[in-house]
Amino acid sequence: MPTKKKPKVATKKSKAAKKNPTAVAKKLKAVAKKPKVSKKSKVAAQKRAKPSISNITKNKYLGEDEFLASLEPLKLRKNERYMNKRQKSHFDKILNSWKSLLLIEQDKTAQNLQKSPTNFPDQSDRASQEEEFTLELRTRERERKLLAKIEQSIEELKASDYGYCRSCGIEIGIRRLEARPTATRCIDCKTLEEIKERQNFG
Ligand SMILES: [Zn+2]
Repeated sequence: MPTKKKPKVATKKSKAAKKNPTAVAKKLKAVAKKPKVSKKSKVAAQKRAKPSISNITKNKYLGEDEFLASLEPLKLRKNERYMNKRQKSHFDKILNSWKSLLLIEQDKTAQNLQKSPTNFPDQSDRASQEEEFTLELRTRERERKLLAKIEQSIEELKASDYGYCRSCGIEIGIRRLEARPTATRCIDCKTLEEIKERQNFG
């Protein structure tokens, strides 16, 4: 009798041992699958974070002029109220995609600046590399200022102040804003300001 029981226990054990590896394998598979899922959700989150970028420009940012030239002008409707919901969302898209592109650009600039120029043995190579760095720094500074303007415009849009001249209160105009989305003054006030500046400094 005991001799019969022993093999039974043994078979139970071996069954359990056989079961366990598959259970472990299943668990491992599940663990291996998990990062895939989180990667997908990460990509989805990134897509959600910048939805307006995709249709405006998928290619790299080539600068302010190219970006503005790539924008499609809003088709204006007859008797449309200035800065209605549709027009606001048009500029909201423009400003936010511009901001996203500049932020990506800033990251790249920061990475470029981190590369050390000192490992160039040739002096002229080093000089040209340093020149590039100076240029890079200037670009970075310009982009930083532009970003601040864009952020200001986004805030004004939220407060429904966007699109009106800061000096005289008149409508700046859709076409002027499309050409210069961060404009805070109407063309007349801007021109006057420039004339005054030229008289003071020119
Ligand atoms: Zn004005």
